[in-house]
Amino acid sequence: MGKVYLIGAGPGDPELLTVKAARLLEQATIVLHDSLVSREVLQIIPRSAEIIDVGKRCGQKLLTQDEINALLVSYAASREAVIRLKGGDPVVFGRAGEEIEALRRAGVAFEIVPGITAALGAAAVAGISLTDRRAASQIVITTYSRGSDSALADPFAVTPQLNWAAISSSTTLVLYMPGADYAEVSRRLRDAGQPDDLTCVIVSNATNAQQQICWTNVAGLASAAKLAAPALLIVGRVATQQVEEIAATRWRPEPSERQSKHPTIS
Ligand code: SAH
Repeated sequence: MGKVYLIGAGPGDPELLTVKAARLLEQATIVLHDSLVSREVLQIIPRSAEIIDVGKRCGQKLLTQDEINALLVSYAASREAVIRLKGGDPVVFGRAGEEIEALRRAGVAFEIVPGITAALGAAAVAGISLTDRRAASQIVITTYSRGSDSALADPFAVTPQLNWAAISSSTTLVLYMPGADYAEVSRRLRDAGQPDDLTCVIVSNATNAQQQICWTNVAGLASAAKLAAPALLIVGRVATQQVEEIAATRWRPEPSERQSKHPTIS
């Protein structure tokens, strides 16, 4: 019986993989990965390895969660090491809980190898400190859109509502999977008492060549241009300073140069 490694691939840039993740990928013979995992990270895997994309295509799941769980268990019976590779960190909106449960039930050994979650990748490229003793003492990482397979039928599943009670003026909110309707997000933030001029930063494809960053605020979010998925939203006073500094600045993506991924202040 082999071992399953639940590995975080980070937000995209292969240099952000942990040393352990990179080593395991270089030695891999079988990898099951999500669609979020970047091409650059997949290139680390030897050509001789079997690589299975179990992710989503155009909103359609290629495999259900139950099928993925069953594959992990069955590959572990014949392989020494099975790599389950997920975008960001496996334990943040990665459905790792369901896979861990299946592996435990089947008596399969597993190990979690953390990755840099999108919130941290996005904060890094936007130059934002998510906590700041002058402005934010807590970070709420949340979402209000959820996977659509069997979890929806689960009466004990967490409701897809934001927990507004947890959000104060010293909270930095990081909203994963904000969806395409920014006007709805803006409305929800306003309904929850967030001020119109509170800074919102939309970060798309953080640390990837297609990276885009849009600086706006709660009111402006309603009419902000949609950025390509995957994208997330950072909302909070911690970003305010950058907005002032960056007011006269336009970020120009130049994918050929890694340095240019960062906002240029001119
Ligand atoms: N396990 C992942 C999250 C998976 S949920 C992690 O820890 O990062 C998918 C959501 O993550 C996307 O809808 C988006 O909100 C966010 N996301 C993932 N990669 C991203 C990236 N490179 N840039 C911006 N957001 C990203």
